Amino acid sequence: MAITGTTRIVGIFGDPVAHSFSPMMHNAALGAAGIDAVYVPFRVTPGQLREAVAAIRSLGLLGINLTIPHKEAACALVDELDPVAALSGAINTIVHRDGRLVGCNTDGKGLLRAIHEDLATGVEGKRVLLLGAGGAARAALVALATAGAAWIGVANRTPERAQKLLAKLSPHFSGTAFAAYSLDGDFPHQLAGEIDLLVNSTAVGLQGAAFPWSPAICVRPTGAVFDMVYGREPTPLVLAARCADLAAADGIGMLANQGEEAFRLWFDTPVPPGLMRATLESLRHGK
Ligand code: NAP
Repeated sequence: MAITGTTRIVGIFGDPVAHSFSPMMHNAALGAAGIDAVYVPFRVTPGQLREAVAAIRSLGLLGINLTIPHKEAACALVDELDPVAALSGAINTIVHRDGRLVGCNTDGKGLLRAIHEDLATGVEGKRVLLLGAGGAARAALVALATAGAAWIGVANRTPERAQKLLAKLSPHFSGTAFAAYSLDGDFPHQLAGEIDLLVNSTAVGLQGAAFPWSPAICVRPTGAVFDMVYGREPTPLVLAARCADLAAADGIGMLANQGEEAFRLWFDTPVPPGLMRATLESLRHGK
């Protein structure tokens, strides 16, 4: 890929960001689609986020993805939010259009599609336990409730954050029941055998750490586990689920699906089908 005077720039702000597979996935798609643009990772700390978002404008970047821990704070720094982003209070994509920064969220769509593709299931009428209450959890909760989950439990290390999330979002979903838990509590035992789908949206597993309990305590034998974390090896949660004979998938499929959506928003053209997923699978297998 030749960088010229007309090459446009998209990228990702996060801290950490070095683990992200997004640059490889997007650059492969840009190359395949013949688009004169490049996707760059930027390590941006929380204290630098305001300046970094202002730089999207001053440097004329076409768009940016946001990852841990910026999805919520960035909402206040853009000019407008799309309806899903406004409801969830989290953005993973900024589109720089006609001098305005539009905050969007493609995580929810990416999650639902990955659950369907990788676990061959849906969420309608299901009891879903969501671990985490950060930016990704907000988008996940909106997507799961919109898709008709019957019950959503949210367990977070800081339980007040889970309660705050439910206080804000539950009034919008009268068909779904909600409950909040502390991640450090004995909630897996309280929910023994009751869960159809466990979704991890915490950073646990990102650096190899595991939850100190087996998902099989609360997930019923016909249930499944979806871990948003991904990497070259199976994540600790995926391993624990598979050891207990539960269906499990990591976040690779979600990453590809949310990435396809962001690409379409920036370049107004679809990604060659299957290309992002194939790129991620090769990275996973060290090719
Ligand atoms: P975030 O807004 O910073 O939220 C982080 C969440 O993780 C919070 O709930 C936080 O709990 C929890 N957490 C962090 N460290 C923890 C620890 N040591 N023990 C227990 N809980 C901990 O980040 P995010 O954007 O939501 O991302 C969360 C995770 O999802 C990341 O691993 C990210 O890579 C992954 N993700 C993947 C995809 C994908 O496409 N596959 C998409 C989005 C996100 P507190 O509230 O207590 O701090």
